[in-house]
Amino acid sequence: MREAGAIRHPAPDWLSVDEALDRVLHACSPISEERVGISEALGRALATDVQSRVDHPPWNNSAMDGFAVRSADVAGATEQSPVLLPVVDEVPAGGFPRAALSPGTAVRVMTGAPVPEGATGVIRIEHTDGGRDGRVLIQTDSDARRNIRLAGEDLRRGETTLEAGTEVGPSVVGALAAMGWPDVTVRRRPRVGVLSNGNELADFDDLDDVLAGRRIMNSNEHGLAALVSGSGAKPIRLGIARDETADVRRRIETAGEIDALITSAGVSVGDHDHVKEALDSLGMEHGFWRVRMRPGSPITFGILDGRPVFGLPGNPVSVMVTFHVFVQPALRALAGHSRVRRRTLSARAAEEISSPEELTHFFRVRLEPGADGGYEARLTGPQGSGILSSMVSADALAIVPEGRVGIERGEAVEVIPLKDWIA
Ligand code: AMP
Ligand code: MG
Repeated sequence: MREAGAIRHPAPDWLSVDEALDRVLHACSPISEERVGISEALGRALATDVQSRVDHPPWNNSAMDGFAVRSADVAGATEQSPVLLPVVDEVPAGGFPRAALSPGTAVRVMTGAPVPEGATGVIRIEHTDGGRDGRVLIQTDSDARRNIRLAGEDLRRGETTLEAGTEVGPSVVGALAAMGWPDVTVRRRPRVGVLSNGNELADFDDLDDVLAGRRIMNSNEHGLAALVSGSGAKPIRLGIARDETADVRRRIETAGEIDALITSAGVSVGDHDHVKEALDSLGMEHGFWRVRMRPGSPITFGILDGRPVFGLPGNPVSVMVTFHVFVQPALRALAGHSRVRRRTLSARAAEEISSPEELTHFFRVRLEPGADGGYEARLTGPQGSGILSSMVSADALAIVPEGRVGIERGEAVEVIPLKDWIA
């Protein structure tokens, strides 16, 4: 497939995906912080640097069940000519040695137990006769300087630091506990208003109208609320505005305390533009109003009362794709994460994918294990922006960047993974 030439004169206000994302991220800074228990901090971002309150481990301890020795005492030990040492002490995990290790002796230690001063290594039990009757036969000296974990080798009091902006994953929860912190200061979960627009929409209280074919389900609100929750933020549902500027305005004005606003529909050209009109009348500063992408080109972004506002298109797939591309990174920036840009993977196209040259196209694909040990990306079926089922079965979004008219079968294609499991 041919590589297309340069883009032909895109309108200056019709931004590339990268330019648009840069503008979004530039406008989003971390919201306020709160102190929470470390298990409630899961998924949030540290608001401050956090230093260890302890040395960890607190003492030199054994990495094996075995015998603490001085290397000079076991030098040259083999199975044929083992070294016999008296066992003068035994230290379980939670116990302490009675004294320093005297030359020519051994101390039995369990994994995690403090090793006596003077020991250079712990001979693992498999390299001995197991020890009995107050003595042990050391059958190799290979551990003579091994298997001692040094005090403070993992965490150092006042020194080891988790940096502000770090995401609190399970390992960070464990590290915070090891550092002696029962609670921690993290950024709040952003409160995100979600507003639908359109006279044709109904929710479950008017399900009969939907079942009778008179209206369509307000699926965007439910999908968006789930995307917001899945991004670690709190959705605030603002319901369905009618296609009237005043109703859109009223719902935004009465939203209460929110950190960001997402609307869907009512922003495309040819629409009555009630959402843009309402946002303008409320004094929104414009960031951009369209992006060279498909699906999702008619997306509005701006700042209203210091808060980011995303006017997403109405089509359900456009909503989801623009959320993944722009809104989720923005919500992470608000939530104080230092890493906000999505990870991509390289896959091979399992079939030819063709795309308009002037737009970055996001295709819904399934990922399958490929012949070369990587992934193969296969389209999930019809790719229309109203076909939500194309999204349901998608493992990833395959990106055909602007300037390309497509990807040939077998060619590499960059994908944004949406799921962690593929088989
Ligand atoms: P619009 O941007 O208002 O022109 O809407 C584009 C398409 O998305 C239309 O087919 C709408 O019916 C549909 N749509 C708009 N809002 C929603 C919603 N909340 N849930 C599902 N579909 C919607
Ligand atoms: Mg509409």
